[in-house]
Amino acid sequence: MTGQCFCGSVAFEFDGPTTDIEICHCSRCQRATGSPFAAEFRVRAEKFRWLRGAELISFFDAPILREPPAYRRSFCKKCGSPVPAVFARNPVVAIPTGLLDGDVPARAADHIWMAKKQNWLNLREIGTLPEYDGDPTPESSARLIEPLKLK
Ligand SMILES: [Zn+2]
Repeated sequence: MTGQCFCGSVAFEFDGPTTDIEICHCSRCQRATGSPFAAEFRVRAEKFRWLRGAELISFFDAPILREPPAYRRSFCKKCGSPVPAVFARNPVVAIPTGLLDGDVPARAADHIWMAKKQNWLNLREIGTLPEYDGDPTPESSARLIEPLKLK
């Protein structure tokens, strides 16, 4: 199984087994991803390897709140996309699901840090919203930007 960053300069591969996916709503994951939550699964470190672009990876270790290791955000220096965070001597590598090239080989296990969940995110309601296979219909797009009163 393979994955890559937004610009494709950094790519990796791994083999199973994988853990299930943890959906984390903590404030650090929200800021690190720019999204309401982070969704990651883990693989054994020896089953993970960079295919290209390892020299383009930079990282930021956030101050340790409770105990090591630090919350590390690894990213591609070219496009800023998150990439898996690899620590020396850590037996596992966490892989953000959005980086994979194909289907994700794991399923959602749980939501953690729900106390920090963003207010707009209603997990019951979100499954009932209109769905489109691709771009929304012109009518739906028009309705969406209505409050902006663009002429
Ligand atoms: Zn990149």
